[in-house]
Amino acid sequence: MVELILPTRGTVVPVGKILCIGRNYARHAAEMKSAVPETPIVFLKPSTAVVGNAGVVILPAASKEVHHEVELVAVIGQGGKNIPVETALNHVDAYAVGLDMTARDLQAEAKRNGHPWSVSKGFDTFAPLGPLKAASAVGDPQRLDITLRINGEVRQAGHTRDMLFSVATLIAYCSTIFTLLPGDLLYTGTPEGVGPVEVGDLLEAEVSGLPLLRVKVKR
Ligand code: MN
Repeated sequence: MVELILPTRGTVVPVGKILCIGRNYARHAAEMKSAVPETPIVFLKPSTAVVGNAGVVILPAASKEVHHEVELVAVIGQGGKNIPVETALNHVDAYAVGLDMTARDLQAEAKRNGHPWSVSKGFDTFAPLGPLKAASAVGDPQRLDITLRINGEVRQAGHTRDMLFSVATLIAYCSTIFTLLPGDLLYTGTPEGVGPVEVGDLLEAEVSGLPLLRVKVKR
């Protein structure tokens, strides 16, 4: 089980549920040839998908096309239900950079058939998570650059101001559905520039002011 040390509260918690947001940047929705959503698109990953900094992403045999999606991750420190948007950020203990690894071929097939995304998003090691930084030291989560490099080459470069739904809005919305608990993770969606990864790649994910996340890709 992956455990987190919450830097603000100083407590150790297991990784809880992983809430992920689809199409939260307009230009990423456009590159996927998908409509911009009117309410957040929420899906879940299992906690077993998490791998930490300096870890390895394992490409599953079931997929021929695994994509990177670099995302700002909010780490919940204080749980709640029906959290008001005005106080939602008080529930965030820390932020980190994460990767929402996606078996794009399996996801496309699921979309065609009206099936869930759980398989395409949920393989072991499909939720790399960087070191946590206390929320108070990060400040406004909508003022952060977000970048992904592969073998030193920039592939994604976005800014969290371009989120369609803010971190606070997402927390408030998700808490109307799910009771949030300490250790839950919120992957807030990816900017444009997603693409495939290959065996041997070094992925470096970065959000301004946060510690770097580095993972290698293996078969
Ligand atoms: Mn994503």
